[in-house]
Amino acid sequence: MLPKCYSLHRAIQIIHLSLGMHIDIISLVPELMQSAFAHSIMKRAQASKVVEVNLIHLREYASGKQKQLDDYAFGGGAGMVMMIEPIAACINDLKSKRNYDEIIYMSPDGELLNQKMCNQLSLMTNIIILCGHYKGVDERVREHFITREISIGDYVLSGGELAAAVLSDAVIRLLPGVLNDETSALSDSFQDNLLAPPVYTRPAMYQEWAVPEVLLSGHSANIDKWRHEQSLQRTQKRRPDLLK
Ligand code: SAH
Repeated sequence: MLPKCYSLHRAIQIIHLSLGMHIDIISLVPELMQSAFAHSIMKRAQASKVVEVNLIHLREYASGKQKQLDDYAFGGGAGMVMMIEPIAACINDLKSKRNYDEIIYMSPDGELLNQKMCNQLSLMTNIIILCGHYKGVDERVREHFITREISIGDYVLSGGELAAAVLSDAVIRLLPGVLNDETSALSDSFQDNLLAPPVYTRPAMYQEWAVPEVLLSGHSANIDKWRHEQSLQRTQKRRPDLLK
């Protein structure tokens, strides 16, 4: 079952394939993300030039002898705040080289990330992702530079780096040419608001646990029907909210 918007989505993606996607991630600790981008699907996507990921150390934009990046919060209270100057210098420098579709701040009070947002972001050409640390960034950064704020869940992480890696992975795997079977991302959970059906591989019989017979039948219409029914049942049972 392909989502209704599939062909339009695909057409725009094909145009993007020739352009490639560019993601700049600004962070105090880019090392935290290196491994996430250096292996498996994310590595392959970069090697084949479908996406270019640029991890930027905010320290490069700090001024003064101290190279200060954070300071105490006005009004007092525990926790440091990331200063506006280095972030502004960094974003302005990036903007002088490219036009950005979105400048995203990872934040627990942002829009909750979902598959639809990942699909939308996968159609963009250039994005910046800003990772916060400590108590977060000076509010004026959010007011004047950020175009979108995204949370990966209702819990607080110590920094935006892992959240940025999660967001990037969810977007990059949708880019054409990244997954081996290009339609496989479309049969994953949450596309068309359904959870994915169960999957099996060899052996067909393990002890006395057999794989559902229909999957061994070779009858593709029956297999599609079974998978769709399983998806519906699973969604009804586990996430009825998706069906509303
Ligand atoms: N004081 C903030 C939390 C700061 S946590 C608050 O209470 O809202 C430090 C940084 O980690 C944030 O600036 C953000 O970039 C990142 N972060 C923490 N939790 C996150 C989440 N659920 N989703 C996305 N980013 C998150």
